[in-house]
Formats: sequence, C-alpha cells, structure tokens
Amino acid sequence: MINLDDPKKFRTLTGQAHQVAMNMLRPISRKYDLAEHEYPKELDMLAAMIDGLSESGASEGAGAAGVRRSEGDDDGAVKNGTNLASVMSIAEMCWGDVGLLLSMPRQGLGNSAIASVANEEQHERFDGLWASMAITEPNTGSDSASISTTARLDGDHYVINGEKIFVTAGDRSDAVVVWATLDKELGRAAIKSFVVPKDTPGMTVERLDHKLGIRSSDTATIRFEDCRVPAENLLGSPEVDVKQGFAGAMATFDNTRPLVAAMAVGCAKASLDLTRELLEEAGVEIDYDRPAVAQSAAAAKFLQMEADWEAAHLLMLQAAWMADNRKPNSLEASMAKAKAGRVGSDITLSCVELAGSVGYSETELLEKWARDSKILDIFEGTQQIQQLIVARRILGLSSAELK
Ligand SMILES: Cc1cc2nc3c(=O)[nH]c(=O)nc-3n(C[C@H](O)[C@H](O)[C@H](O)COP(=O)(O)OP(=O)(O)OC[C@H]3O[C@@H](n4cnc5c(N)ncnc54)[C@H](O)[C@@H]3O)c2cc1C
Repeated sequence: MINLDDPKKFRTLTGQAHQVAMNMLRPISRKYDLAEHEYPKELDMLAAMIDGLSESGASEGAGAAGVRRSEGDDDGAVKNGTNLASVMSIAEMCWGDVGLLLSMPRQGLGNSAIASVANEEQHERFDGLWASMAITEPNTGSDSASISTTARLDGDHYVINGEKIFVTAGDRSDAVVVWATLDKELGRAAIKSFVVPKDTPGMTVERLDHKLGIRSSDTATIRFEDCRVPAENLLGSPEVDVKQGFAGAMATFDNTRPLVAAMAVGCAKASLDLTRELLEEAGVEIDYDRPAVAQSAAAAKFLQMEADWEAAHLLMLQAAWMADNRKPNSLEASMAKAKAGRVGSDITLSCVELAGSVGYSETELLEKWARDSKILDIFEGTQQIQQLIVARRILGLSSAELK
C-alpha cells in the first residue's frame, strides 16, 4: 500500500525548517522585498546554523547543496534520502520566503550542479563553497544547447570567454558554475560546466537586474574575458562523447527541477494558509464533507486550488524519491516542475483575487507571493519547455524530432 504520510524520520527537519521560515524569514520578508539588492545579513547566522546541523548529522540536506546521488549504497532497500529531505525542507523554507531561500549561503543552484556532476575529489575541494549557476546568455535561454560561451584548453587551464545573464546569487556567491562549449562544431556534447571562483581574473559582475519578484535574491550579469580556470575545475569528464550528447550536463536538471517544484509548492502553501484564515474571518466556511458545487464560490475555488496543490506536492515527492532510489527521473522531474510552476502561479494569484483589496495591498504578503512565484514557472526551464520534455519522453521522440 502507498503511504502518503511524510516520512517520520524527516519530521524534525521539516519542523525546524518551518520554525525558521516562520520566525526568521517571514519577519524580514517585506524588508528585503523593498530593499532590493541589499544583502540580507540575517541569513549569515541562519547559514551557520544549517552548517552546524549538517556537520552534526542532525540535518539531512537542508537545502540545494544536499542533493546528491551517492554511489555504493545501493543495497536494494527503498530509501527516503537526501533528495526527499531537500524538497521537503525547501518547501517549508519557501513557505517563509522564496527570495531569501535563494540567497541562502552555500545553498545555491550551482551547489546542486556540483552535487550532480562532480567527482569525489571535486566534491571535497568544493565543499563549503557557495556556487551559483550560469547557463543563460543574451542569445540563449530555453535552448541551452546553443550557448556560445567558449572554454579553450591552454596548458593546464581552460580559458573562458562569453557573457552570462540572469545569474541567481551571481553577485553574492563564492563561485559560479559556468556552462561553456569546448568546441561549438561538436554540438551539445561539447558543453561542459566549470567551477569559476569569484576572485578569478577576467570574471566581472557587470550589473544587477531589477525584478518583478524574489527581490531579495540578486540576479547578475557576468562577463568572462580570457578568464583562466584550472583544468581540474571542469566538472565530470572532459571527454566529448558525441553518443552521450547533452546527457551529462542535463543530469543537473533532474536534481534541480524537483527543488524548484518544491519552492513553488512552499510558496503556494503560504498563500493557501493565509487565504484560508482570511476567508474564515470573512465567514466563508470550507466544508470537506460536501461537494464543492454545493458550497460558496469562494469555498469551491479554495477546494479546487488545494487539489491542484496536492497534485503538485505528490509529483514533487515522486521526482525526489526516484532520485533517492537511483531511478531515472527526467520525466518526473519535468512533470513536477511543470505542474508545480503552473499551479504555484495560479494559486498565488487566485489567492490575491479571493482576498480582494487585502490581497492586493502590502499589508499582507499575498501580493508578494504572487510576484515571487512567477519565476518558478520560468527558470530551470519554462512551463512550455517542461511540457516539451514530457511529450518527448512519453512519445519517445528526440529533441530534433519534436521542437
Ligand atoms: C529572476 C531570474 C533568475 C534566473 N536565474 C538563472 C540562473 O541562476 N542561471 C541561469 O542560467 N539562468 C537563470 N535565469 C534565466 C532563465 O533560466 C531563462 O529566463 C529561461 O530559461 C527562459 O529563457 P529566456 O528568458 O531566454 O526565454 P526564451 O527561451 O526566449 O523563451 C521565451 C518564451 O518562449 C517559450 N519557448 C521557447 N522555446 C520554446 C519551444 N521550443 N516551444 C514552445 N515554447 C517555447 C518559452 O517557454 C517562453 O515562454 C533566470 C531568469 C530570471 C528572470
């Protein structure tokens, strides 16, 4: 029988994450939404706490850095592991604030890339680093196979040239995981990722962007001009395996997309919880024993949103659980991201609508959550791109056959 309860062993972790979200993130949420680009210094203490928990073993994957498919522990038993712990705790933290979660030291999306692709030596060398991830370029967004940033081998270094835009935590992180091509002629198989530490000459953070939401998170444009990084900073294998194609670099997304789904699930839950309170205060009763059609329009809408939320939540758990159990999860990771990204936006905006003027005003955080959630349906692959991936996987078509 399927047991849909949260695993008992993660209750302490999710309980702690919820407390942090409520007592540390929520109180500073509006402050840093208004003070865009100002560093949320309160997060340093929180990051130290998370490091302490991780070191003591009390926390299994409190953030993006926790995601990793470990080798050698395949004893055949079903596992609820780091991936599941990460999505559950990230959802709780994003119940507090998505932008602040994205600003958490040492929990960047680049850390997930390192966790997914790095070898043992690199795991050790880059441990404790805060890494952002730079794929997008002025002429490359959804079609990440067409990036034009280059990495040329020169002795025992790679020389990187190009421009990356919209790098989350690109200013604050200690290093950037940069996607670059070893040889454009060889197509997508030649795309590799490189860990570039911030003080590397030739790497310049050019500007920070102003945004609709997640304003507490910095989003940077970074230029690379003859930027030399040690050859051993190339993540994974330097071989260009045309047969394997893009699979190596894309493996990162199987781990990061469930995390973004978790962010959407957490943010939408925050909106639902507050809206329920506001509806109850307004005398709207939500009755789980009566069909939605027999209830008020507001209650019926709320029940429909909760059902959508539950579907997204279950897909998120499934994608992470499959990663924990070393099952290929590209399809499920995209399904989770597509469903959670879409319903996250729908729910948060519908909650603004249901709460009326209170929803639209800055006295509550509902309007902020509607702004914050939109990005979760855009970055790490847009809604349309996730649907394309799902369709390709189900129909057994390649990216050349279904564009
Ligand atoms: C706040 C923020 C933070 C970000 N953080 C990062 C980061 O940390 N690292 C990073 O590398 N990037 C980051 N990005 C970039 C983000 O991943 C891209 O914006 C996203 O991949 C979409 O690319 P694009 O903006 O170029 O849109 P485009 O690819 O130009 O797409 C525009 C529209 O066309 C649709 N579309 C494109 N191709 C198809 C198709 N084949 N079929 C159907 N529809 C299609 C898209 O879904 C979208 O609706 C961030 C962006 C923002 C706004």
